[in-house]
Amino acid sequence: MGKKERKIKIGDRLIRPESLMMSYGYRPDWSEGAIKCPIFQTATFSFEKAADGKAFFQFALGEREPGPGESTGLIYSRINNPDVEILEDRLTLWDDAESCAVFASGMAAITTTVLQYVKPGDLLFHSEPLYGGTEYLFKEVFPGFGIHSLGFCAGATREEIEEHLEQSGHADRLKMIFIETPANPTNALVDIEECVDIARKRTRSGSHIPVVVDNTFLGPLFQHPMKHGADMVIYSATKYIGGHSDVIGGVCLGPQELVEPVRTLRSFIGTMSSPMTCWLLLRSLETLKLRMTCQNKNARQVADFLAKHPKVEKVHYLGNITEKHPQYAVYRKQCLGDGGIISFDIRGGEKEAFKWLDSLKLFHIAVSLGGTESLAQHPAAMTHSDVKPEDRAKQGIGENMIRLSIGVEHPEDLIADIEQAFEQV
Ligand SMILES: *Cc1c(COP(=O)(O)O)cnc(C)c1O
Repeated sequence: MGKKERKIKIGDRLIRPESLMMSYGYRPDWSEGAIKCPIFQTATFSFEKAADGKAFFQFALGEREPGPGESTGLIYSRINNPDVEILEDRLTLWDDAESCAVFASGMAAITTTVLQYVKPGDLLFHSEPLYGGTEYLFKEVFPGFGIHSLGFCAGATREEIEEHLEQSGHADRLKMIFIETPANPTNALVDIEECVDIARKRTRSGSHIPVVVDNTFLGPLFQHPMKHGADMVIYSATKYIGGHSDVIGGVCLGPQELVEPVRTLRSFIGTMSSPMTCWLLLRSLETLKLRMTCQNKNARQVADFLAKHPKVEKVHYLGNITEKHPQYAVYRKQCLGDGGIISFDIRGGEKEAFKWLDSLKLFHIAVSLGGTESLAQHPAAMTHSDVKPEDRAKQGIGENMIRLSIGVEHPEDLIADIEQAFEQV
């Protein structure tokens, strides 16, 4: 399928990503004129001539580049597949990335990317809190392979972050900074540019220290970490990209130079995505902007209602960061929207929170986020139950915190559900 021009123009007009989500990277004449890309549900691809097979393997292993008139060639669906490649091409548009690799899950994307750049004895420096699965991977799994991990608090000052790194005794083996911003479930922010600066300051000749941002919460619509100097962006495509709570997938984006080695490792450890999953994600991308814009708007109304309710102690929502807030400058710099995730502290503790959750009629009690339906969950007992209680307290995750993922329902119906649940508490 060869290299594609990412910036499509009509005259002087640069065509925006949402206008290309229905067509980019696919041509109907490849498939009998089918307007939609078929599902290439096949394990392997036949070579017309033995020499073609030889050439395709050379391209796949990076031994040589395709010459004029040659195409990369399809080999085997663990290495490449049309649905995988078309999805990857489309995903590059939102973050204006050179290259993309898709994975079987967000966790597969994180694991493959980290293992490519961080080796036994090295240090992985990361923000906290993290998505529960990522936290477990970094703190419980990677140390078993000799990889040191060290967390710093989202919202800490630059001095505190650097001091923490220096005091670890492993700063000279720093190989990656991994950040999640806004942090789950508190919506605390991490300054991407600041982390990039910390990484660059420690770069020795020939050892680039990549800064990787998990952009699942706001991206790909409302935050573009590479515009702030980040090297790579990760997504759980299960969330907003998939958007319908019916598929698990992951994404890694960045410059070709950094993504290509990750893709090669993916081929060998088999963490790629399936044709069917990629096809579903292609369908989802067509409505990504519609969905996220609606969720963003609905969340604003829900957050306003919560803020005024007497049974609510505090609302943790990006849209409530005002000029007096210590993170206002970072918020203005990085966030193009407020997203659809709201956490709030109900007056009381776990008992009141559970009573509220059990009284919901339209919201479902479920983990995950970013889908078209609204979900509610209790971080301390669910997504963050494996975080030590004292760490949870430090990160601001209380027994009275509830996290909402706002969907595309009518906002007044969501508010009516929230209101009647409060009446039961
Ligand atoms: C869900 C999630 C992940 C993990 O993704 P899976 O697709 O479930 O493997 C990673 N990071 C964040 C921020 C998430 O919300």
